[in-house]
Amino acid sequence: MTQSLLPRLTPHISEWMRAALNDRPMLATLFEEYGSPLNLHHLQPFGDNYRAYAEVMEQHKLRHLIFFARKANKCVGFVQEAERLGFGVDTASYRELKQCLDNGCHPDRLVLTAAIKNEALVHLAVSHDVLIVVDNRDECALVNAVAHKLGKKPAVGVRIGGFEVDGERLYTRFGFPVIEAVDFVGQELEENYEQLRFAGFHFHLNGYSPRERGAALVETVQCAAALRERGIETQFIDMGGGLLMNYLRDKGQWEAFMRALKQAVQGERPPVTFGNNSLGLQVVDGQVYGEPSVYPYYNELAGPDFLAEVLTYQGGDGQTAAQLLREYDIQLRMEPGRSMLNQTGMTVAKVAFRKWDSREDLLVGLEMNRSQLFSSSADFLLDPLMVYHEKETVAALPPEVGTAEGYFVGAYCLEQDIVLKRKLPFAHIPEIGDWVAFPNTAGYMMHFYETEAHLFELATNLMTRDAPEEGRMRFVLDGE
Ligand SMILES: *Cc1c(COP(=O)(O)O)cnc(C)c1O
Repeated sequence: MTQSLLPRLTPHISEWMRAALNDRPMLATLFEEYGSPLNLHHLQPFGDNYRAYAEVMEQHKLRHLIFFARKANKCVGFVQEAERLGFGVDTASYRELKQCLDNGCHPDRLVLTAAIKNEALVHLAVSHDVLIVVDNRDECALVNAVAHKLGKKPAVGVRIGGFEVDGERLYTRFGFPVIEAVDFVGQELEENYEQLRFAGFHFHLNGYSPRERGAALVETVQCAAALRERGIETQFIDMGGGLLMNYLRDKGQWEAFMRALKQAVQGERPPVTFGNNSLGLQVVDGQVYGEPSVYPYYNELAGPDFLAEVLTYQGGDGQTAAQLLREYDIQLRMEPGRSMLNQTGMTVAKVAFRKWDSREDLLVGLEMNRSQLFSSSADFLLDPLMVYHEKETVAALPPEVGTAEGYFVGAYCLEQDIVLKRKLPFAHIPEIGDWVAFPNTAGYMMHFYETEAHLFELATNLMTRDAPEEGRMRFVLDGE
């Protein structure tokens, strides 16, 4: 076997993940009971992530309300924990909202931002006094009609978009154009939808630019200022989610991987991805263009630092976003999903087979499918952790010197059911029954695209809040 030159991408890993992987009898019992893969979750980092965000808001002396965007993970345990710790949940469907209400979430700490809202959903929200963020006039008419029927005067948030950043308007399919926002709220809302009471603005930007978020925040405060002139107060601005999260330890590794990928797709080195997949790079006449369509797994401005950067963005007159919010006494709200789940989850699967394909690549078959580890990013660019049963300890992947290289493949009868597109170096060829752990998968990776093709059962979601240093952690079914 040859020495591996495959680039590594070493992830940040929590103590609880290591402890779980080192407790083999516990994991073996869980696999026996619930099959493979297992979605393991820990609630402690969830609360920590919340407190870190709240602290930044408080340092800037901002009144705040943080909602966990629950679409990023299905587990009801996070909903219960948010309510226990006194923060909110952003809901995007009937069942998400209903489950929050059934679990005792206070309606003041719920928001409905669903992209499509039918009458049943609007009825549920209005009858429970849950704030609805309205996206368009048809929705306003629907909420107005339902409110009229119920004899309610619901507060609404108005979603806006199309902010101007560096002379260009950011495209979005969501919300009212910001340039119409003042007239819409100042006149039309009251005239045409008499049941609705304006409470605040909402936006959610695509992409991960703190600069764009800062600019959007400032432009929204300007709308609030113009409304104040007309005697209308803006109680809150909700800046949505999309706060960056950092998955990886080392900038050099990230850059080296990107270089290797470009070289490989240009044919200058052996492939680093399955079938030399370009991960979204454009290749024309052997030249690469653009950037891979992957999440920026390594980045230096994540979580609370990202938030601080947004809050200190300076508008045209030199005032920061935070100063403006204080000046107009506006509560800042946000709806982080992915970044609230940082370090809260891990997917663990069993090795089913080893084989070599017709290109003579090693394929390691896993008892899972790729829908159970899938997001809009072209690949999940973190090294998994192998648990080799022959060996005493958890071996971090990849080893200093790889002795085997290959790919993880899944259970769907598709050529494309490759669990990770990246080629991975193994310390040695995995044995049947060995385990592989994919760290930090709670945000989107586990649930967002999960399917039940072939009638496979969905993966089991397990939760704990037990401290890893206090002996065995006990994982229970989500919701129990
Ligand atoms: C998806 C979404 C979020 C959460 O985004 P993250 O990237 O997970 O932080 C928040 N608000 C709205 C309206 C969304 O659509």
